[in-house]
Amino acid sequence: MVAGADTKSVAERVAEVRERMAVACARANRATDSVRLVAISKKQPEERVRAAMDAGLREFGENYAQELAARVSSFSEVEGVRWRFVGPLQSNKVNLVVRTGAAIDSLHSPDLADALRRRVRHQPIEVLIQVNTAGESQKSGCAPSAVPALVEAVRAMPELNLRGLMTVPPFTDDPEDARPHFRTLAALARSLALSELSMGMSADFEVAIEEGATMIRVGTDLFGPR
Ligand SMILES: *Cc1c(COP(=O)(O)O)cnc(C)c1O
Repeated sequence: MVAGADTKSVAERVAEVRERMAVACARANRATDSVRLVAISKKQPEERVRAAMDAGLREFGENYAQELAARVSSFSEVEGVRWRFVGPLQSNKVNLVVRTGAAIDSLHSPDLADALRRRVRHQPIEVLIQVNTAGESQKSGCAPSAVPALVEAVRAMPELNLRGLMTVPPFTDDPEDARPHFRTLAALARSLALSELSMGMSADFEVAIEEGATMIRVGTDLFGPR
């Protein structure tokens, strides 16, 4: 086989992403272990997800409720794996997602918080609030101006363990375009005393690390094209 971009193994891709993370952390004067790598496995074949686990990854994210539930049961025997739901969550899928025990990174409204809270049975579930930093009308997420009130509401719910904020900036070719959105998210989190910042994807995670990301969400650069 000829070595090329499409023949790269998942293990090689994981090593490359880790190296890029280390370089970005060094440039930003941050400890390498201050940033967690969340592997976004949506629409990837199961053998690639297994290869990522074999390469040592333990935190995974999914976008679709059904696929999340299937993954959680497929990999239930792998020790220490943690799942996160990062996609738009419809109210009719709340129960399905809560039952998986996954963290939910796309909380965006008081109604959704209330629906989640009412489904929680045992342990509180970890949540992040998704912020629509660019104010894009077609994108889900809470408007920045509405975040403080949502934070206050969620903090009053013992069933939800609010850890921080998440954002998906508008897609562009230049990673620098994402920087102001990452800054907005970081400033908002700081003002609300929230410690986790989920920001940065394959194309722009170095910029996100420079702006304070504590979790980056990487799909394509870890698994190959979907
Ligand atoms: C798909 C997805 C990612 C990963 O995107 P890549 O560009 O493939 O790294 C990260 N976050 C969310 C919310 C996604 O939907």
